[in-house]
Amino acid sequence: MRVKVWGARGSLPSPLTPEALENRIQTAIQGFLASGYSKPEDIKNYFSNLPNEKLGGFGGNTPCIEVTTPEQQLIIDGGSGMRLLGYDMLKGPCGQGKGEVHVLFTHFHWDHLIGLPFFTPIFIPGNKVHVYSVQPELKEIFKTVFKKPYFPLNLEQLGAKIEYHTLEPRKPIAFKNISVTPYQLDHPDPCWGYKIESGGKSYSHCVDTECTRVSRDQLGPDLPLYQNIDLMIFDAQYTLMESIEKVHWGHAAASLGLDIAMREGVKKILFMHHDPAANDEKIAAAKNQARLYYKAQQKTAKRTPGQPLHEVEWDYIVEGMSIEL
Ligand SMILES: [Zn+2]
Ligand SMILES: [Zn+2]
Repeated sequence: MRVKVWGARGSLPSPLTPEALENRIQTAIQGFLASGYSKPEDIKNYFSNLPNEKLGGFGGNTPCIEVTTPEQQLIIDGGSGMRLLGYDMLKGPCGQGKGEVHVLFTHFHWDHLIGLPFFTPIFIPGNKVHVYSVQPELKEIFKTVFKKPYFPLNLEQLGAKIEYHTLEPRKPIAFKNISVTPYQLDHPDPCWGYKIESGGKSYSHCVDTECTRVSRDQLGPDLPLYQNIDLMIFDAQYTLMESIEKVHWGHAAASLGLDIAMREGVKKILFMHHDPAANDEKIAAAKNQARLYYKAQQKTAKRTPGQPLHEVEWDYIVEGMSIEL
């Protein structure tokens, strides 16, 4: 199973401004020259070792995740990253009007829908786009997105045929060799995460969530979303301090995801839904805080008898990141 992140920003697409980009390139070149390099062939090596906040950043497109196995492709959410995924899919059957697309929605906040009107396969006659959500109002949502004066075409004018599917909470559904089970997240409007299993590997999608329920008792029927997981993608819009200030805003901090991952033995956790108000330097600082938090928790656990914590691989997502399971 391969998981590719086409959009990792939360709430609003947030491209780097031309001024910020220009400053960053100038600083990077000055650093290159100050390091004693001079040959053009050293440029790639030097630039590829720069941290994200010094060059390409963490990405500005809003959530869209692609899950693929050799037999099946699934998409989670239609944020602005979906536009780029759509271009990529034109190389396959979708480009010839023979595509069958499956899109799972977590919820309907704008940042998870705005890529839909720019997803080229939806305009090509012959393609079939299956859309899924636990929330029953999916068709109404599509009618609203594809409607004048918000968008020039209405639903009936799209080339592809759209088929709507309502999912049962916590009940698995099969897509060839992939099993998908929706579990509820903690967000101001109902939001559902997905546990995706295939070939003995599992991916847990936990965005957007404030994760107000943390203990096993509190999580209750939604606990399986966090157990026996190879890869979890978790909401870390805020720093720990911001998450305390922004109660009920619907988003979490990395420390919360790390706590659950260390307790439940999640093998790898990656963080996304980066705050649009945070520049890349601030995201890098939040990642540094998370590193200190992880180390401190591990150190305390090792000193405390009877408090075992699993070691967890973790990182912050950079748009375009692809993970093989
Ligand atoms: Zn969101
Ligand atoms: Zn949301």
